[in-house]
Amino acid sequence: MPLNSPIYVTRPFLPPLAELYPYLEQIWENRQLTNAGPFHQQFEQALCEYLGVDHISLFANGTLALVTALQALRITGEVITTPYSFVATAHSLLWNGIKPVFVDIDPATFNLDAEKIEAAITPQTTAILPVHVYGRPCATDRIQQIADTYGLKVIYDAAHAFAVEDKGGSILRHGDLSILSFHATKVFTTFEGGAIISPDEKTKKRIDYLKNFGFADEVTVVAPGINGKMNEFQAAIGLLQLKYIDMALEQRAEIDRRYRELLSDIPGIHYLPYPNSKRHNYSYFPILVESEYPLTRDELYRRFREENIYVRRYFYPLISDFPMYRTLPSASKPNLQNASITSDKVLCLPIYPELEVKTQKKIAMLLTVKNK
Ligand SMILES: *Cc1c(COP(=O)(O)O)cnc(C)c1O
Repeated sequence: MPLNSPIYVTRPFLPPLAELYPYLEQIWENRQLTNAGPFHQQFEQALCEYLGVDHISLFANGTLALVTALQALRITGEVITTPYSFVATAHSLLWNGIKPVFVDIDPATFNLDAEKIEAAITPQTTAILPVHVYGRPCATDRIQQIADTYGLKVIYDAAHAFAVEDKGGSILRHGDLSILSFHATKVFTTFEGGAIISPDEKTKKRIDYLKNFGFADEVTVVAPGINGKMNEFQAAIGLLQLKYIDMALEQRAEIDRRYRELLSDIPGIHYLPYPNSKRHNYSYFPILVESEYPLTRDELYRRFREENIYVRRYFYPLISDFPMYRTLPSASKPNLQNASITSDKVLCLPIYPELEVKTQKKIAMLLTVKNK
């Protein structure tokens, strides 16, 4: 029997509503709604402390952060990136008049295959834009080595990688810049929101100008900036969310662990081993539906929908299959074989702090059924 209320792939965690009122009262009282108000400043600092980084610029959303990161480093020409991501990754390049060059993924991590980057470099290449897909760290050392050799910048789309750490600390420290998203579907949400992590104060300052029309002071405009500012309401939500994020991540870890147990012996259903990070955020639970499974991936997807469970095909189609990308030479299927195979097999199961054990068991039961 289908579930009465739909189960989605995620359900945003929200703090108790009563805790928001004092913040709203303060906003109503001081009437500062945006433009680096008190909550914005507090949230920026609290986030630096939580994530273990020194310089964060808050944004209205992750896409504006990506577009601005490329502007800040004056990236032009061609940028090497992955087809296996949310479409905003490559869109940020087109919005800057940059040509995306797609490189295949490593089938073991679903991240850009670092060993295939060099072959895609041309005299026009200026940067690499990898994604820590599902919060699983990219081959950051190898990517930096290639970037150093060829004089390229590295911007990480870390939209999935909130709170993720490797043995050296936050993975947001890698590359020239990293961007985060606090969209409603992400592990840490401010409804909409995003950020750029900079390596130094000078770069942060330039990014802060760029997100505020290029204003350096009341009468000085230093660049054709954009309006990318996070407002006080978003910042207040962010401050509250920080109080609960550790608990939310622990609950996600438990759900991830339970899936691994429930799905361990289902022929044709595979999941990735734990990543090699020191701290993971359990942001997604992707499974691969292999050919020996009695249903195709899409049949399974539809079967879940009939049961009122909305699993998602992240990432299908590949970015390189969308009309504005598919005519690029690098978008060809033979160039992107692993991404193409993974995209045809993947299904992301619901994972969020409030997901109930009985729902997880129902999901596992649906996967176990052997009918065709
Ligand atoms: C969500 C997401 C973005 C865009 O972030 P928004 O805050 O929704 O603009 C960019 N890249 C990836 C990989 C994402 O998942």
